[in-house]
Amino acid sequence: MRILIVEDEPDLLAGLAKALREEGYAVDSANDGEDGLYKAENYDYDAVVLDVMLPKLDGWEILARLRKIKKTPVLMLTARDQSRDRVRGLDTGADDYVVKPFDLPELFARLRALIRRTANKTTNLIEIGDVKIDTAARNVSLTDKPVELTAREYSLVEFLALHRGEVVTRTQLYEHLFDENDDTFSNLLDVHVSNVRKKLGAEFITTRRGHGYCIE
Ligand code: CA
Repeated sequence: MRILIVEDEPDLLAGLAKALREEGYAVDSANDGEDGLYKAENYDYDAVVLDVMLPKLDGWEILARLRKIKKTPVLMLTARDQSRDRVRGLDTGADDYVVKPFDLPELFARLRALIRRTANKTTNLIEIGDVKIDTAARNVSLTDKPVELTAREYSLVEFLALHRGEVVTRTQLYEHLFDENDDTFSNLLDVHVSNVRKKLGAEFITTRRGHGYCIE
């Protein structure tokens, strides 16, 4: 899952980016409104964490412009005493908000819920045959035995599982599993797919030649 954070306070931006990477997300960042809008329009993020008060373009303007072209889930960061902001945010098309200063676990939970809702899932648990994926705990089991996956392998499994039955292209996977700081090597994806198959069974991920990958 790839997240964009738009936030102009450097410490908060760096801290949030680090914490989200530790949770296994690919993270891009923008420290002003123009850059944030540019990235949100041009990349296909799983969610955007958007501060309200930003230089160049504020969060409202970004949200309004983005909503004209995309439904990317947006979580607004609002100030404590601006309850009007929250109403305005939800009216303008924000999917959720947290009030600064916020708890990281709360922000993580809200992001997971947003991503889940976008994929039309109501629980944290996804079952595919003998494979169970817990998207809150970020763990996977096979016939009720825990399976050790690397962070990238987990992200691959989770993304395909949330798009079960759809063919996901290699380009989509690169966009959602890696961020602007990653060096992408074209064969790396195949290595992750091959490792997941070793751990969860060769049939778990189907290759559609020339199209991409799929979990049936
Ligand atoms: Ca700000």
